[in-house]
Amino acid sequence: MRGLIGGQPLTVGAIFERMRTVNGDGEVVDARGRTTYRDLADRVLRLVTVLRDLGVRPGDRVASFANNSARHVELYYAVPLAGAVLHMVNIRLHDDQIVYVVGHAGDTVLIADDDLLDRLPELPGVKHVLGMDAVAALVDGAAPCDDLPVVDEEDPCGICYTSGTTGMPKGVVFSHRATYLHAMAACMADHLAIGHHDRVLPVVPLFHACGWGLPYIAPFTGADLVMCGGDTSPENLARTIERERVTWAAGVPTIWTNLLPLAQRGAFDFSSLKTIGIGGAATPAPLMEGWDALGVEILQIWGMTETAPVACTSRPRKRHAGLSAEERRVVRLKTGTIFAGLEARVVGEDGTPLPWDGVSVGELECRGPWVATGYYDDPGLGDRFHDGWLRTGDMAYMEPDGYFKIVDRSKDLVKSGGEWISSLDLEAAIMSHPLVREAAVVGVRSVKWDERPVAVVAPVDGVAPTLADLHEHLAGRVAKWWLPDDVVVVDEIPKTSVGKFDKKAIRASLANKELP
Ligand code: ADP
Repeated sequence: MRGLIGGQPLTVGAIFERMRTVNGDGEVVDARGRTTYRDLADRVLRLVTVLRDLGVRPGDRVASFANNSARHVELYYAVPLAGAVLHMVNIRLHDDQIVYVVGHAGDTVLIADDDLLDRLPELPGVKHVLGMDAVAALVDGAAPCDDLPVVDEEDPCGICYTSGTTGMPKGVVFSHRATYLHAMAACMADHLAIGHHDRVLPVVPLFHACGWGLPYIAPFTGADLVMCGGDTSPENLARTIERERVTWAAGVPTIWTNLLPLAQRGAFDFSSLKTIGIGGAATPAPLMEGWDALGVEILQIWGMTETAPVACTSRPRKRHAGLSAEERRVVRLKTGTIFAGLEARVVGEDGTPLPWDGVSVGELECRGPWVATGYYDDPGLGDRFHDGWLRTGDMAYMEPDGYFKIVDRSKDLVKSGGEWISSLDLEAAIMSHPLVREAAVVGVRSVKWDERPVAVVAPVDGVAPTLADLHEHLAGRVAKWWLPDDVVVVDEIPKTSVGKFDKKAIRASLANKELP
């Protein structure tokens, strides 16, 4: 016997239908104005015609090179509807990395924001490079496509490269099915809890891990999308949140660290804002405390491009009922439970699963219908995948109910005297010092200990704590042998192309450092 229910493929086209019909009165807002989902959908169908006229055929790769805008969202739908694959190129990559990813993905058409066109290097395989204005003019004159190709749910709809924090970018190919299932799971109440009444501000760029899926999640539920373009300055974000009555926003920690002082001064009306989803890197405690005090919920999100992309949130569970706000914060600062539909576990060095005992630290592995099973055309990295499991490169421990905490990326752990120091935990402790805005910890070579931790600190107001001050602050917060050997004061912590602490660059800058 076979099931006799359903039969409809899980595709981006199905999300599109929901956006076009039931959610047609939702809207996308950007610097150009407001568009309803109904009108956006009409433009999407015209854009499919334009893409076809440019020679785009099912399976072809079409690149976007753009900030967050309604036009970028149009591409998120039109390219998959045409049966093609959208490659959201990270506009902050170096020229050689852009040439690499565009060539590697085999992009034949590239559509860029007009003000980014002259940022593009020579791209040999690309037949058409067009600005968004030119494309919009073509869309205005095109007829809506009325014979969309039939796509299989396992067909690719997007390719997104990792941000290259730990090496060259690696291509993750999203299928229609994975994209659909991710959007369904992500909006669940225990996960992101995004619904029809929300107004969602993705500060995360649409080129970072598929904009965390928000361009699909929001139109699927009917939530509105507010796009801030490339201006993620605190002033622009504050104005946007106030004017657009944003309820749900998302981005990497540093965005919200920079916005917090403005929110605390009370110069803008943030009363609509319920939730800030923070992911891409661990959330520092003072950041959560600061926003909590303003009545804005900080929701920690974990995911990777390879988990297509959001896979975990740190919402307290039933067993945490009755805890004080302070105790709940300790829970919320852990990483959380894997989304319904996915599995997670931690394994030892030999690959044996470790007990869920709240102490055993091993590599986190995930599997499920929206977890990558390989990189595009990259057989050399096949050992990251086995039996459906993805080796995440993150080190974590599991509590008995599967609530987990990432202690570090395996590459960032500081190896001292045969023991490991979690750079994330040490950073968290240092960032709880009132004079510290941001802090990154890396291992610096030591003859005696192999490596010793050094703290790179960006002060709140120009005055940084001395090493002795830091040691005093850290006493009782971390083990004595974790105390950093030195502190380096900087104006800004070096960041990657998507705004994470750039540990590779920091390590390189301290490569010849002599420890005191
Ligand atoms: P890249 O690996 O190039 O940085 P991704 O953006 O896909 O590209 O990064 C995923 C990684 O980001 C995770 O493996 C993890 O190390 C880190 N990360 C994401 N969210 C969190 C979080 N909430 N806490 C700690 N680390 C996180």
